[in-house]
Amino acid sequence: ATPTSIMVGTGRGAELGVLFRKGDALQVMEGVKVVALDKTGTLTEGRPELSDIVTADGMSEADVLRLVAAAEAQSEHPIASAILRAAEERGIALPKVDKFRALPGYGIKAEIEGKTVLVGADRLMEREKIALGALTDTAASLARDGKTPLYAAIDGAPAAVLAVEDPIKPSTPAAIEALHRMGLEVAMITGDNSATAEAIAQRLGIDHVTAEVLPRGKVKAIEDLRAAHGITAFVGDGINDAPALAAADIGLAIGTGTDVAIGAADVVLVSGELPGVATAIHLSRRTMRNIR
Ligand code: ADP
Ligand code: MG
Repeated sequence: ATPTSIMVGTGRGAELGVLFRKGDALQVMEGVKVVALDKTGTLTEGRPELSDIVTADGMSEADVLRLVAAAEAQSEHPIASAILRAAEERGIALPKVDKFRALPGYGIKAEIEGKTVLVGADRLMEREKIALGALTDTAASLARDGKTPLYAAIDGAPAAVLAVEDPIKPSTPAAIEALHRMGLEVAMITGDNSATAEAIAQRLGIDHVTAEVLPRGKVKAIEDLRAAHGITAFVGDGINDAPALAAADIGLAIGTGTDVAIGAADVVLVSGELPGVATAIHLSRRTMRNIR
């Protein structure tokens, strides 16, 4: 009877857009205590827009955006696309970039027209010893609104604070409520700014937040959650989520996410919709109840 019930559960899942890729996923899922979610592209659309640009004294918005967008044109990060679209909308022509480096989890560094251009999180500016002065207040206030603040520096001097805003997916609030009703803890793991992450978590009623995690740090965050709460599921979409998807007791990939994430997952939410997480756990509970 056991294999039959598992087959029925797996088949029902497939009908509901929840693909159990590994045999024991349906069994392990029953005991899940905490569901950890990646933020960008999982809780949010993953398509941020530039919402604000506040320049330092004496800097023009167009001049800053011209250099910043040129540098970001070399980056693959969703933040880069947001800044590029904003420059395009304003009809800004981009200069040639002579040198470029992506610093994952920090930001980017480029040489343009003989100037050194830095764009990224506050920890990039710390690392490069840029004194941010009054811009930190502006950034803090943008973060409290749930926006991600970024700094730009040109030749060692702060030039602007920019903010990008990534809309929460319409189905996210109901998905989190469903997990809470099932008695589960809900956590967020993100590389984004802490204050931004806290603002979004508060809006969504998320119980635990781990923010400003470097790409390799997501696995550690999963291990900490497991030690504190027990069996841990992780939901993610990105290349940088693959190690955490593999490390979690159950890894669930957003079906519209990257192939690398899907390859590392035990369960694929085909529709890309987060309510599939609760569906998967319901199915698992019902299947295991039938077996006993
Ligand atoms: P996440 O995908 O969760 O945002 P990342 O590790 O990709 O995590 O990025 C962490 C932070 O590093 C971003 O929130 C941003 O502050 C900074 N960053 C990364 N790439 C860029 C970029 N191309 N331009 C500006 N900032 C960046
Ligand atoms: Mg993501």
